[in-house]
Amino acid sequence: MSADPAASIARFRELLQIPTVSHVDEGLIDWEPFDRVLTVIQGLYPGLHGALERDVVDGHSLLYRWPGTGETRNPLVLMAHLDVVPVVDAEWDHPPFGAELVGSGADAAIHARGSIDDKGSLVAILEAVEELVADGFAPEQDVYLAFGHNEETAGGGARAIVAALRERGVEPGLVLDEGGAVVEGAVPGIAAPTAMVGVAERGVMTLTLTVREGGGHASTPPAFPATARLARAIQRIHRRPFPARIAPPVRAMFSTLAPHAAPLLRTVFGNLGLLGPFAARVLPRFGPELNAMVRTTAVVTELSGAPGENVLATTARAAVNIRLLTGDTVTAATARIRRAVADPTVEIEVRHGTDPSPVSPWRGEPWRRIAAAVRDTLGEDVITAPYLQLGASDSRWFTAISSHVYRFTPFHLTRAERESLHSHNERIRVDSWLAGIRFYRALIAAS
Ligand SMILES: [Zn+2]
Repeated sequence: MSADPAASIARFRELLQIPTVSHVDEGLIDWEPFDRVLTVIQGLYPGLHGALERDVVDGHSLLYRWPGTGETRNPLVLMAHLDVVPVVDAEWDHPPFGAELVGSGADAAIHARGSIDDKGSLVAILEAVEELVADGFAPEQDVYLAFGHNEETAGGGARAIVAALRERGVEPGLVLDEGGAVVEGAVPGIAAPTAMVGVAERGVMTLTLTVREGGGHASTPPAFPATARLARAIQRIHRRPFPARIAPPVRAMFSTLAPHAAPLLRTVFGNLGLLGPFAARVLPRFGPELNAMVRTTAVVTELSGAPGENVLATTARAAVNIRLLTGDTVTAATARIRRAVADPTVEIEVRHGTDPSPVSPWRGEPWRRIAAAVRDTLGEDVITAPYLQLGASDSRWFTAISSHVYRFTPFHLTRAERESLHSHNERIRVDSWLAGIRFYRALIAAS
């Protein structure tokens, strides 16, 4: 079968129309779309289902194995997730589950929740495999497709997939999950399109701060009520940000980009090792993304006090969401926050926490395979650069069974398109999505 873009787009739109919305509170999830999406995938990809073994894991996650023709030592794992984040309908110009095709030519785009994150990748992988099967291609090494159903919330699906692979003794030679895209202008001074491939991701943790007191009526407040004490603790955390430093994946990103920068920046980017402390202080001025690349960040998200306006709070509470830079730990960050708060009456508890991922190498065969697929399918002028992924992905569970875990979404995205992720008007240009199919084809063919 030769690739038929119109048919691929029709299948993509059909899968985007299924509202597989996940919620942090699993009790709110409507499981019907999750049941339906599994059935629809089976119907749309007969070739794939003829050639690959299929397992449903943890209720609604999918694990496929495409048996290799040779002796498998380092199988390839392609990841994506089936769920999407909730939508606020009022803000969308086109219905979020309408998957409307808007515009024409190079501007034609599909508007839908999940068009980028992450059904863009999910369906591009399915299309790539279906095309390769139709062409009579069989991989030399095993290829696994791992599609979790609750990446945006609990991540239990991906963990169950990792457990299943570990039980079978599978040690992947290359794992590719969602991550950076092909972007322009994400790093100041770099004009060339850059494929940002995450070689590590930050850890995630949440601390709960609690202050308790006797309560009583708001007409006779104590000198230092629980709410004020909590506010002081928050202010102290805010005033003492974690120190800025250049972690190895960030240094690698800048040194890879250095040859493509203007002369002055080239010197700076190429010498971050020497300029480390200085650069770490300057980079945050370029905005929240670069700030997040050079320090562990902490921000207060939830806040609660009294249940009514005229009563004193018996407990005042805050949640501090912390993203850990490579080299930091849950334990060390908790200790630092404790020191910053410097008040033993503020209880500090770890609600949950995961340390930063190990760092995958940005040299060697797996890395070159990704870079070659980028060059061959997404543009000869595209630079492939390692970077530190700021958000968390399902791939972090795979670091337990593979030392080559990478995070890359093979679509050329504008800044506006990137900002539509998790927000309103999420959309992907059709040309950009079709190129992504070619990327996955090339990566599988080289494995
Ligand atoms: Zn995602």
